[in-house]
Amino acid sequence: MSTQTARNDATLPAETRIVIVGAGMAGLGAAFRLLAAGIEDFVVLERADRVGGTWRDNDYPGCAVDIASAYYSYSFAPKHDWSHSFARQPELLAYLEDLATTPAVAERLYFDCGLESAHWDEERGRWHVETPRGTISAQLLVPAVGILNRPTAPDVPGLDSFAGKVFHTTEWDHDYDLRGRRVAVIGTGSTASQVIPAIAPEVGHLTVFQRSAGWVLPRIDWKVSRLEKALMKRFPVLMRARRWRQHWTRELFLFPVLLNPGRKLIVVEALLRLFFRAQVPDPQIRAKLLPKDRFGCKRPILSSDYLRTYMRDNVELVTEPITEIRPHAVVTADGREHPVDALVLATGFKPYEWVDAARVVGREGKTLDHDWREHGARSYLGGAVHGFPNLFYVVGPNTAVFTSILFVIEQVIEHFVRTVQEMDRHGLRVIEARADAQDEFGTEMTDRLDGTVWTSGCSSWLLHETKHNPTLWPGDTTEIVGRLRHFDALAYDVTPAEDGSTDLPRVPQYL
Ligand code: NAP
Repeated sequence: MSTQTARNDATLPAETRIVIVGAGMAGLGAAFRLLAAGIEDFVVLERADRVGGTWRDNDYPGCAVDIASAYYSYSFAPKHDWSHSFARQPELLAYLEDLATTPAVAERLYFDCGLESAHWDEERGRWHVETPRGTISAQLLVPAVGILNRPTAPDVPGLDSFAGKVFHTTEWDHDYDLRGRRVAVIGTGSTASQVIPAIAPEVGHLTVFQRSAGWVLPRIDWKVSRLEKALMKRFPVLMRARRWRQHWTRELFLFPVLLNPGRKLIVVEALLRLFFRAQVPDPQIRAKLLPKDRFGCKRPILSSDYLRTYMRDNVELVTEPITEIRPHAVVTADGREHPVDALVLATGFKPYEWVDAARVVGREGKTLDHDWREHGARSYLGGAVHGFPNLFYVVGPNTAVFTSILFVIEQVIEHFVRTVQEMDRHGLRVIEARADAQDEFGTEMTDRLDGTVWTSGCSSWLLHETKHNPTLWPGDTTEIVGRLRHFDALAYDVTPAEDGSTDLPRVPQYL
């Protein structure tokens, strides 16, 4: 299906114009769009020995995309022959590996070359990036490292004392045979909803510990026929139509409900209750599975086999809180001991706790995670960060939307390419988001959440424990496209190239 990207063993150059960090969806997308814009002076640094990001790191049983593949793929790299309407992890990884075999991309890709640190050199107006393969200096630094890559373990006493097998879903041990064992899964989010139906048929007994239930939507998944693939290949317009149907279904029908929850939300929830009833005929189990919070507050789960797995004889749903973990059991608040051989932690990730952020040192010696640790991640328009000149995130703060994060990633990449072109056009050496522009954007994002389902009260990784919203852009995609289409020169402090001044309009105090 795919050819693993050829290894680039060349010495890392000492200088380049742009360093992209990460060769997952975001990093490869940025590489493609830079090349398409004729910007060729860049490298992509990848810490691992193959591309793929989240689709390389997560390969737990049942791992698949929960956004239709026709839409969860780049518009500039459409694929006509997805095997299923919702692609499985191996096929997504293969898609990315195929992208990376493009010679112009492959020759700029450096594996085993993660960012060890990056320092802003004020005098030269450049980033100095340390990697295991040497140091590289660049005018622009583009972290494309994703949001969810630092796993969290549950804060439960005794976890370290567990004598059986324990692993997080993102570190799945495929050598460990679950067949016939007593397995416990902690967590019932999107990941757990894929793992649970996949392993239930083979394990001896499965105990699922649920802290709070989430709404589940059916996943209308089908194996794509040869005829459908042939039609998509022959008539690319059909591929585009399929993509836009996916987009507008989410955008027109569900987004308004989330933004202005009212009667429409009651209708959606009533319909979903029917789905729960059909999947879980047992009223006692169903009562435990029905969420207490509003639809959309947590990210909805998409699955047609998750709920009904609880009707299996070998699966038990436990909603009593976990109080302790002992060497061979999980203990719950009712004093019950649940014997377990293997413990699967489907407890999610620490969003925006980028390992790299602690090692990126900007103006005045501040690390990127310094402010973020306390207040949550901040940026201007999801990309630029005040205090960190010439740095542009691809999957930055406030880039999560209800449709597909990939859609926003494409817009952020286009915005970045446009910014580079504007720098060239106006002779700029350094560009930095202004503090007031960043604050205004952050406050706007937080304020606009008021009255939406996201602030209706639930535990969700989407929101920071402070009131600040580091994750969501609570707007429709038309707005996002519109705002990212323009380069607003007044939102940036700029430094012209040594030999000139800029013709850009400036805010008065910076004239
Ligand atoms: P998650 O949504 O954060 O879910 C974590 C689960 O662990 C929640 O059910 C949480 O309960 C539970 N939990 C945490 N600590 C616990 C404790 N001490 N005791 C009991 N339960 C505990 O993480 P995730 O499922 O890995 O999904 C994260 C995101 O990854 C998703 O929202 C999605 O964006 C992405 N994802 C995408 C796909 C895809 O196909 N595209 C697939 C999987 C994941 P509470 O709900 O009560 O907090």
